[in-house]
Amino acid sequence: MFSKILIANRGEIAVRIIKTCRRMGIATVVVYSEADADSLAVEMADETVFIGEAPAAQSYLVADKIVAAVRETGAEAVHPGFGFLSENAGFARRLAEEGIVFIGPNPRAIEAMGDKIESKKFAQAAGVSTVPGHVGEIDDTAHAIRISEEIGYPVMIKASAGGGGKGIRVAWNRQDVEEGFPAVKAEAKASFGDDRIFIEKFIESPRHIEIQVLGDKHGHVVHLFERECSIQRRNQKVIEEAPSPLLDTDTRAAMGEQAVRLAQAVDYDSAGTVEFVAGQDKSFFFLEMNTRLQVEHPVTELITGVDLVEQMIRSAYGEPLPFAQQELTINGWAIESRIYAEDPYRGFLPSIGRLVRYDPPQEGDVHGAKVRNDAGVREGDEISMYYDPMISKLSTWAPERLAAIDAMGRALEDFHIEGLGQNIPFLAAVMDQERFRSGQLSTNYIKDEFPDGFHGTAPTAFQRDVMAAVACAMHRTITRRAAPELLRQDWIVVEAGERRPVRVTNGDAGFTIAFVDEDRTLRLDGIEWRPGKPTFSGVLDGRAFTVQVKPAAEGFMIRHRAAQAHVLVLTPRSAELHEKLPPKTAADTSKMVLSPMPGLVVTLDVTLGQEVRAGEPVAVIEAMKMQNIIRAERDGTVKAVNAKAGDSVAADEVLVEFA
Ligand code: ADP
Ligand code: ADP
Ligand code: MG
Repeated sequence: MFSKILIANRGEIAVRIIKTCRRMGIATVVVYSEADADSLAVEMADETVFIGEAPAAQSYLVADKIVAAVRETGAEAVHPGFGFLSENAGFARRLAEEGIVFIGPNPRAIEAMGDKIESKKFAQAAGVSTVPGHVGEIDDTAHAIRISEEIGYPVMIKASAGGGGKGIRVAWNRQDVEEGFPAVKAEAKASFGDDRIFIEKFIESPRHIEIQVLGDKHGHVVHLFERECSIQRRNQKVIEEAPSPLLDTDTRAAMGEQAVRLAQAVDYDSAGTVEFVAGQDKSFFFLEMNTRLQVEHPVTELITGVDLVEQMIRSAYGEPLPFAQQELTINGWAIESRIYAEDPYRGFLPSIGRLVRYDPPQEGDVHGAKVRNDAGVREGDEISMYYDPMISKLSTWAPERLAAIDAMGRALEDFHIEGLGQNIPFLAAVMDQERFRSGQLSTNYIKDEFPDGFHGTAPTAFQRDVMAAVACAMHRTITRRAAPELLRQDWIVVEAGERRPVRVTNGDAGFTIAFVDEDRTLRLDGIEWRPGKPTFSGVLDGRAFTVQVKPAAEGFMIRHRAAQAHVLVLTPRSAELHEKLPPKTAADTSKMVLSPMPGLVVTLDVTLGQEVRAGEPVAVIEAMKMQNIIRAERDGTVKAVNAKAGDSVAADEVLVEFA
C-alpha cells in the first residue's frame, strides 16, 4: 500500500480523506493556500506545503505547485477530492508522466465523460437511456430554434463543458431560445472557456437520481445503488438521501446495470457517479457522469458500509475490488443536509464571515440512529469568499426513512452556529414538511413549497409548549440567582400577543409547568442549560428537544427548528401593564437596506436615483476585520443614502432607502 498520499484539496473533503488515510496507516500531506494556513486540515495532516495566494487559480488549481509539493514530500499518490483538479484529465496525465499515482479514474475516462456532448454519445453507444435531444453542437440561434422545435418545448440549453449548475437554461418557447442561447453561450465562454452548446428535452417535475459506481484496474465495475438529490436550489443540491423513495427493485437494478455498462465502456477504474433525471413515472435518462468522488458520498457509505475513499485508494494502488455486485446490499436509510453559509431568509444569498460559535451535534450512535458530520472547520474559523460556502455536511442513518428524517431533525436542533447566516432553520423546515416525509420529491421542490421564499414556520402546538416551558425554566433559574425574593409560582407567559397563565414548580430534576386555563400540566426534565448558554436541551413530556435561546431586551428569543418566537414571562401585575402598552408596530423596513451588523462603512456603492436590482451590492461594511457585502433584497430606485464611506454604523441602521 502507499505510505504517503498528498491531498490536493481543502476543507471538509481534505479532512475526510485524512481520516481514512489514518485508519489505513498512510501518512498525509495537505497543500494549503494563504487563506487556509490555520485550517483544520492543515492541523490534522502529517505534513503540509504552502502553495500560494487564496484565489484557487493561484494555488489549488496550479498543477505545477501540486507536483512540486509531491516531489518535496515524497508522496506517492495524489487524491484530488472534488472540484479543483479532480476532473482535469491534463492533470491526471501530467501525474502519470511524472510517475505519481492519481487517485481517480484513468485520464481517458475523465476526458470522455468530462464533456456533456461526448459523454452522451458514449452513453447512447453503450445502450444507456439518454434525454431526447440533439447530440451535437449547435451553431447559432437559428439552429438552436430549429433544434428546439424538432425536440418540442420545453427544452434545456446546456453548455457542453458545464458543471456546478452553471451554463444551464430552460426554454419554454421560441423567444426563450432567442434570449437563452446567446446567454448560455456567453456564460459558458466566461466560466469554462468553452462555448459549445447542445439542447435536450426538459423533463418536467423531474427527480435527480444518481448511481454510485466503483471500478478497479482489472476490469471489474460494481454499483453501490442510488442517491436521490432532488432538493436543489439554483440547480445545486442541498439535501440528498440514499436510497431513493421513488425506486423499486427492478428500476434500481435497471439503472445500476446501465451505469455499470457506461462505466465499463470507458474502462472506469475508480469511484464515479452516473447522474440521471427520472420522471415521476420512473422513466430515467442519463444526464452526465462525474468522474470523481461526489460531495454527497456519505449517504452511500452509510447504507452500504463501504468507505469510498478507501476503495479509491485501493483501486489506484492496483488492488482488485474486494466484493462482487451480489455481495452489496442496502442497509437502512441515510439523509445528508448541506449546511451552507447562506441566508435562507434572504433568497439563500451567500453569507460569509467568522464562525463566532460552531457547536455541531454529537456524532456516533444516538438512540438507534447514527449521526455523522463531515466538516473542515472549527469554532473561530472563517468561511471566506474564495471557496465554496459549505460549512459542513450533516448526515443521519436509521433503519427506516422516517426515523432517519427524525434523527436529522433532532441533529439540526443540536447544531449551533453564530456569526454568519446559515441554512439550518431551512433544512429543519424541510424535514418537518409532510411532502418531504412522504417522499414526493422533485427538483422543483423548493420553488413549489417556498414560492415566496423562506420565512420560517409558525410554531406548532408542541413548539409553543416547548417555548413556554423553556422560557419559564430560564426565567426561574435566572430569578433564583439574581433576585430570589422575587421567586413565585404564578406567572403569565406572553407570546405573539397571547397570554397563558402558568404555575411553575420545580423539584430536583426539573420543572412542572401547569397551564392554568387549559387544565394541562407538563413535565420538563433532562435540562441541559445554564445562564449564558445559547442552546437549551430538555425533555418535555417524554419528547426530547433542543432550542436556540437568546435573551432579548425583554424576555427571550427562542427558536425550535424553523419556528422562532419572542416569549415573555411576566408577573400577573406586569402582564396587565404590558397589555396596556401600545403595541409596538414593526417599522416597514422592506424599502430600506439596513446594516446587518455594527461596523465601518468601507464603500457605499449606490447613488441617489440609481435603479438597483435585488442581489446587487449596496455597500461594504467591515466588521470583525471582515468585509461584508450588503446586497439589496428587492428591486428599487434609491431615494435616500444615509451613510458614506468612513462612517460607523450600528446594527439595523438604515443605509439606503428605496422609493
Ligand atoms: P456534486 O454533483 O457532487 O454535488 P457539483 O457538480 O456541484 O458537485 O461540483 C462539485 C463542487 O464542489 C464544485 O463546483 C465546487 O464548487 C465544490 N467544491 C470544490 N472543492 C470543494 C471543497 N474542498 N469543499 C467543498 N466544496 C468544494
Ligand atoms: P451540472 O454539471 O451543473 O451538475 P447537470 O447536467 O448534472 O449539470 O444538471 C444539473 C441539474 O439540472 C440536474 O441535477 C437536474 O436537476 C437539472 N437538469 C439537467 N438536465 C435536465 C433536463 N434535461 N430536464 C430537467 N432537468 C434537468
Ligand atoms: Mg450534475
